[in-house]
Amino acid sequence: MIEHCQDFVEIAKGKGQPVVGIMCEFTPREIILAAGALPVCLCGGSAATIPAAEQVLPANLCPLIKSTFGYHATGKNPFLNRADLIVAETTCDGKKKMFELMSPTRAMYVLELPQKAGEPDALEHWVQEVRKFKAHLENQFHTQITDEKLRAACRLMNRERGLRRQLADLMTRDHPPLTGRQLIELKSIISGMEADLQQYENALNFFNQQQRQPRKSEIRVLLTGVPIVHGAERVLELIEAAGAVVVAMENCTGLKPILDDVDLDEADPVRAIAKKYHHLPCSVMTPNTRRFEMLRTLAAKFRPHCVIELVWQACLTYDIESFHVRKLAEDELQLPYLKITTDYSPSDSARISARVEALFETIREKQSS
Ligand code: SF4
Ligand code: SF4
Repeated sequence: MIEHCQDFVEIAKGKGQPVVGIMCEFTPREIILAAGALPVCLCGGSAATIPAAEQVLPANLCPLIKSTFGYHATGKNPFLNRADLIVAETTCDGKKKMFELMSPTRAMYVLELPQKAGEPDALEHWVQEVRKFKAHLENQFHTQITDEKLRAACRLMNRERGLRRQLADLMTRDHPPLTGRQLIELKSIISGMEADLQQYENALNFFNQQQRQPRKSEIRVLLTGVPIVHGAERVLELIEAAGAVVVAMENCTGLKPILDDVDLDEADPVRAIAKKYHHLPCSVMTPNTRRFEMLRTLAAKFRPHCVIELVWQACLTYDIESFHVRKLAEDELQLPYLKITTDYSPSDSARISARVEALFETIREKQSS
């Protein structure tokens, strides 16, 4: 899919279509698409670029930030190199400050995210931020983003989210027809590509009729925590190699950003778009109660045997919030909970596998007693 995306970007650039790099699910892709541009996710998932990043950034920083910055420093990300604009979302402190170091050599727009997302004035502020972002794109790309273009982009993104939700829903079956590792592949780094949407439809038809032979005593896992960007799927692979199927991923590369759609009936499409993104339950918001509601809903729907939380090293917001997630899993949902803190280096893979296997053994013992 990445190679396919590269071809797609080159063709689009050849036609004069701008590329906008984003690094957070809060950025409304509908606004970018309505500006006639391509929204491309630039989050780094490779360990190989981290040493270059550590020449500038502190070593004790989240690997996602370091890997992304390493791509910037080494010039090895073709999508970053082709980007006409980078959206610097004010998420965690590490990302914010990393963007500052990128800004002297990259065209950048700072998008300020709400912090107290639950408050009504936070929504008003966010609507204004989205309007300013729209005005910036109109200015930079010499275009007019009409309500009509916005509604068309909303319909396209709603369709994309709907297809990805249907694929994810296959995992509710007693014997899901695909693994979590296969499911995460069905996610493009570019949004709104018709060819991808057709592939999602094909995959849906294929897996709908497919029976996967489940392994003996397969454990169903609800995975939560940080995003698993392309190239950083190691922990997901280790969990499934230990005899599990990850039936639900609550994170930003999984279900979190696709559960809500933009309301097409709302009179003002910018407000409708802002509302959809405003609800995203990210740990950088406070309080982040909606994440716990989402976990409750996902646990009821996907029927996991346990909750595993992945935290990238030095990701303070997810690390601290894991206190509440553990409590929710163990006390309320009555599900065993395991937190895995790691980075992109494979050096602790054996230790992670041992911890995951021990958790699964305990679950199996309980099931047979
Ligand atoms: S986890 Fe938070 S900061 Fe990261 S992509 Fe999701 S919304 Fe953005
Ligand atoms: S995983 Fe955590 S520290 Fe890393 S970029 Fe996302 S919110 Fe920031």
